[in-house]
Amino acid sequence: MNIKNLWVLFLFGIMAFSCQQQSQSEQDTQSESQEAIFEKGEKITNDNFTGTAWLNNLIYADSVNQNSVGCVTFEPGARTRWHIHPAGQIILALDGVGYYQEKGSPKVIVKKGEVVKCPADIPHWHGASADTEFVQVAITGRENGETVWLEEVTDEEYYQ
Ligand code: MN
Repeated sequence: MNIKNLWVLFLFGIMAFSCQQQSQSEQDTQSESQEAIFEKGEKITNDNFTGTAWLNNLIYADSVNQNSVGCVTFEPGARTRWHIHPAGQIILALDGVGYYQEKGSPKVIVKKGEVVKCPADIPHWHGASADTEFVQVAITGRENGETVWLEEVTDEEYYQ
């Protein structure tokens, strides 16, 4: 075997190795994104939600920091009732595809990595899209009172 053939063999070896490395790191990225950041918590059993949703209470409000922080996982089609937060709410979309709608405005699609600032005293609802689950962290101000729950979001409202 002459020196040129050896050189070609060496180059192929390097290429094969780097391809293998790349597919390994792609696999790592994929398995990371499939892993939930927070645990799902408990299945929500009250009737403020339609469909199946899960709640992990991460932080309870106290007199010093009057925000509660909770992670909610909505299965496809699941959503809250219409409701009001007297001190507003911030929604951080952790995974999936969700919907958010304020009364009188069109429904907005919310995707992983997006945020929603929900103003105080504005009736609204949020939940999963019809075919993809949605994971959100909600930061809810408590200084002006508790969430006021209103009527259910009908299928007609949900699908429009
Ligand atoms: Mn809300």
